Amino acid sequence: MTTYLVGAGPGDPGLLTARALELIARADVVLHDRLVPPEALAHARPDAVVVDVGKVGGGEQVPQERTTALLVEHARAGREVVRLKGGDPFVFGRGGEEAQALRAAGCAFEIVPGVTAGVAAPAYAGIPVTQRGLASAVAFVTGHLASDTQSASRTGTGDLDWPALAAFPGTLVFYMGVRQLARIGEQLVAHGRDPDEPATVVERGTLADQRAYPATLATLGAVDARAPAVTVVGAVAALGAELAWFAAGPLAGRTIAVTRARAQASALAARLRAFGARVVEAPAIRIEPLAVDLPDLARYDLLCLTSPNGVRRLFEEVRDARALAGPTIAAIGPGTAAALREHGVAADVVPERAVGEALVGALDGVPVRRALVARAAQARDVVPDALRARGAEVDVLALYRTVAEPLDPEARAAALGADYATFTSASSVRFFHAAAGTLDGPRLASIGPVTTAALRELGYVAALEAGDHTPEGLVAALVSDATG
Ligand code: SAH
Repeated sequence: MTTYLVGAGPGDPGLLTARALELIARADVVLHDRLVPPEALAHARPDAVVVDVGKVGGGEQVPQERTTALLVEHARAGREVVRLKGGDPFVFGRGGEEAQALRAAGCAFEIVPGVTAGVAAPAYAGIPVTQRGLASAVAFVTGHLASDTQSASRTGTGDLDWPALAAFPGTLVFYMGVRQLARIGEQLVAHGRDPDEPATVVERGTLADQRAYPATLATLGAVDARAPAVTVVGAVAALGAELAWFAAGPLAGRTIAVTRARAQASALAARLRAFGARVVEAPAIRIEPLAVDLPDLARYDLLCLTSPNGVRRLFEEVRDARALAGPTIAAIGPGTAAALREHGVAADVVPERAVGEALVGALDGVPVRRALVARAAQARDVVPDALRARGAEVDVLALYRTVAEPLDPEARAAALGADYATFTSASSVRFFHAAAGTLDGPRLASIGPVTTAALRELGYVAALEAGDHTPEGLVAALVSDATG
């Protein structure tokens, strides 16, 4: 079995290589750094072991020896392991050390290079690291050593060779060391560089909330950037003003909590991130499938589905697609209709607004004698009641239920400290409130009137409600609230 040391690129999921995606999708075990794009992990097999060995908020990190030991342990157990690192595994990624450990343990490995931040972040800021006439060489430098702090002397690595760096005939790209900007500027000037030489810090490069801070060596110390960031020093840095092309998303700088079940959170989270938001996943509910005794669907002339979850669960039980040939099929809204389409079924009735009342309206004029409403165990009875009032015989089939998911204190604090908390169902409101004890803090974003009513019942006002009661509609409402 081979172990793969794989680069995940600098953050934009589009910069993952085809090889990286293929290996992630196949792996038994994925050991990843904190900085890898979450979208990369979404490709892992549902039964894969996925371990975060990265830094937690700049604090605790799984020690390198532990990571290396884990790597060797899984490899020896005959598992296919992907060791996924930000950027390129061999550029300030300790990939070389891990490869040495694997070789020493007799484990086969392959290296999958990635797009490194030192080239990609400048590129997304319109800065070519080399340019005819301006820079004929580029040096990648760790800013980590640019300190005279204990850590540099303790590790025995000492300080950087400032005279050599100042004399380097080309662009300098510093990784890490975002807290050493003043020292980088001072030392390069002290050793002969022009204080007016351009220097640009690129923070969160290639991500939708990327920020570039143009400066000079003299003013670098005044730049207030946060990690992860690279610092480009040299004449090419000035080209950023001319070649900038990448626009930050409309939600850049906003933190948004997603409270829906983890299994469904990723699509919403990815959409929010694509607009530049920082996403906090704080699920307080989980979908639990119920044992279902599927009745003969041919006995019904109407089948109502009220959520994408319901559709997925139903199709786990339908053994023969022809069972759906008889009844008229109604979906509560576009999301549920899309889930049906994924299973090759075109819904006959889809109201524009995804609420029970709208579905009742859309079913007006559709002849119904026997209806099956397939849905969550705890749900409003608007649709069954209305159909019964019309004289139809209605059976309700509970396909799943939502149960509480424990909310860890860190996720709770992050969610309550976010700019927005999003709620995509009344149950996510109730379960999150029960787990967190409060909804005070963030602006509360609701997917639709039923969710808004659940907030109101707890004494809270939704700051915004999606016009279109779908995750896309919720994102659109957030964008308009944040930019309006
Ligand atoms: N192996 C990685 C580098 C790991 S060291 C690579 O090849 O890119 C971590 C440093 O990389 C960070 O401190 C920062 O300097 C840089 N970095 C990683 N992602 C970045 C990003 N999206 N934007 C800017 N710098 C980034």
